[in-house]
Amino acid sequence: MILDKRLVLMVTDQNGSRHINVSMIFRQLSLYFLLFILGIVLFLGISISAFNSEIKDINAKSILIGEQYQRMIKKNSYLNEQINQRLEEIALAGDRINDLEGVIGVNKEEYESEKNDDLLTRIDLASITGAQKAFVMKFIPNGRPLDHYRRISAEFGNRMHPILHILHKHTGLDFSAQINTPVYSTADGVVDFAANGWNGGYGKLVKISHSFGFKTYYAHLNNIAVKSGEFVKKGQIIAYSGNSGVSTGPHLHYEVRFLNQPLNPINFVKWDMKNFDSIFEKERKIAWQSLLTTINNLMGQEKWDQQQLSLKEQN
Ligand SMILES: [Zn+2]
Repeated sequence: MILDKRLVLMVTDQNGSRHINVSMIFRQLSLYFLLFILGIVLFLGISISAFNSEIKDINAKSILIGEQYQRMIKKNSYLNEQINQRLEEIALAGDRINDLEGVIGVNKEEYESEKNDDLLTRIDLASITGAQKAFVMKFIPNGRPLDHYRRISAEFGNRMHPILHILHKHTGLDFSAQINTPVYSTADGVVDFAANGWNGGYGKLVKISHSFGFKTYYAHLNNIAVKSGEFVKKGQIIAYSGNSGVSTGPHLHYEVRFLNQPLNPINFVKWDMKNFDSIFEKERKIAWQSLLTTINNLMGQEKWDQQQLSLKEQN
């Protein structure tokens, strides 16, 4: 006889008896439980794999960003190098400009002064007569182009441009002055140019041609009192100062040129009868001795010339 281990419940009521197999119920319950557990495991497995793939994605992205960061650092250092290289090139170009200036003679003061040193010693200053001095002071620009001014607001030479903010050569001397201050010609001459308008930033401008290659410029004017072609005397009012053209405030821009090359006007502004000799030492771009000889000849006085001749013969 086979031992039946199945547990069978017998339920009896007024309708009779029914048999309930307890073992079957237990098995079914076990099956449901197993399915439940399987479901949870499946869910967890799927979730974990989803997380894993996300983590992988994030890792990949992080590596990518890391690489991009490295590339940017490299690019940055490369750009820095380029900037340094450009800066060096700019410095070099600046040196080359200086060299070029030396070659074309813009910046040859040192050389000129050496060359003219012996010329200077040959100017026999004591032999220049009062009449000759008066002649020179009449025809070559000297003294101030205006009586009343506040101050010299910009000197001649290299400076940072007040409006354009670039390094450039200031070709004149600026006298800060009230608008409509009378402006005088600094020597006898003829008006070469007198015009209102822009004039390349000079504004209302008067240019005067003097003897022996000298010219003077009067710029940023308010009113012009002469016409082109008019002969003017030293000390004659030619204009009234203003603030026209490229100008940061009311001032007179005054230039002294020799053969169109701007000279430092301050040497001419400070030049007068009392310190007549000062210009020969301060302004070395002019062959003063040759100029004085020419003036001497013009005045018909041979004495000074003969002295020069005898000096040359001695040498
Ligand atoms: Zn100026």
